Amino acid sequence: MPTVGWIHEGIIDRFWESQPKSTLDAHPEPIYVCNCCGKEFFSSEELKLHYNLEHPLELPAIYINGQPLMRESTLRSALRVSDVEVVQCEACHVRPDGGAWETLTVPDFRKRLVEPDNSTWTVRLVHKREVDQARTEEEYHIRFRIPQPTALNAVDALFIGSLVVDELRHSHLQSYEAGLPAEAPVKEYGSALGDYALGIILKERRNPTHAPVGFEEFAVKMRSALEVLRLFHRPVALAVSGSIRFNLNDFSAGAPPTTPDLAIGLNFFKGVCHAGQQDLACLVLQDPSKRANSAVCPVDETTARILAACRSLDTESGLSLTELEALRQLTRGTAPVSEQDLAKIHVICAEGYLRLGFKNDALPHLHAIRFDPMLKQWAHCRLEEYSNHDS
Ligand SMILES: [Zn+2]
Repeated sequence: MPTVGWIHEGIIDRFWESQPKSTLDAHPEPIYVCNCCGKEFFSSEELKLHYNLEHPLELPAIYINGQPLMRESTLRSALRVSDVEVVQCEACHVRPDGGAWETLTVPDFRKRLVEPDNSTWTVRLVHKREVDQARTEEEYHIRFRIPQPTALNAVDALFIGSLVVDELRHSHLQSYEAGLPAEAPVKEYGSALGDYALGIILKERRNPTHAPVGFEEFAVKMRSALEVLRLFHRPVALAVSGSIRFNLNDFSAGAPPTTPDLAIGLNFFKGVCHAGQQDLACLVLQDPSKRANSAVCPVDETTARILAACRSLDTESGLSLTELEALRQLTRGTAPVSEQDLAKIHVICAEGYLRLGFKNDALPHLHAIRFDPMLKQWAHCRLEEYSNHDS
């Protein structure tokens, strides 16, 4: 089983200390985005004024770090009172864990909302509209699943120890899951990492699965893992999230930093999907020690080959004909290759052959992706260059 990573074995302690800053530290001055019209404001006062003027009939709303909170939400990182804003609201009714209702003022509600770390709240915000004196209400269901950093460190170490291994198997996953702590906040984080590993096992099909789980189920597992992991700015979570985005062909802008190998791959395909757009590049997690790489995240064999090809295309020498032929075989083989990987391989083969001047070899790969919503523009540009050169 190939792996990706960037830390040196034996410096695990320093590794945890080198965690990227949390999103909280990263946004001391959030930008407030109106949930009605999308306009942006630099302070909550401006947002509230804007509500009064432009959306007086709208329902009350909670904002966290400037972003409107969804009515069904899970909070996974610790908040400060200043991270919480409430608009169009005079009174808050909260019901923690199905218990009794409590009525709070808005200032008290903001203070209380930052306290729980393992709880589920029903919240009703009440607003009396000045326009027509009507009483309006909005209800939220908020799950607090905020793990302690030490508990997260322990799960990351368990993940690296149990699942960043050669030939990942169901038995590895079982012993990993048996070692997960019972508390819901950290367990949900650990289960998400486990779901990613299961996604890889499903892709690899190294040993026959007992249950009739389809190959394409890997994407379902990875997607649900990303829903949780994207909320954690920690090295292992960022590495795994980067791998999931690469597996699912999510080359959107604004992705958080990830490991060097994955960043090269993601950036190559961002360049293909968003040609001409600037500042899309994915940042690279840096190991402050600058020592040799060590694994933090397993990847499946096909992904490892695609990443290696992206690294080669990142250099001047590019891919050799032999390497391209080996990749081309993946598109014709009997082993299952995901539709996402197939699309990436076609891009790499087309690019590789074109760079070597073998246009006829590039052509079938360009044709294969010319209807892909994300890649068709790139394929058409390349096909046009091809026909211009021909004529
Ligand atoms: Zn607005």
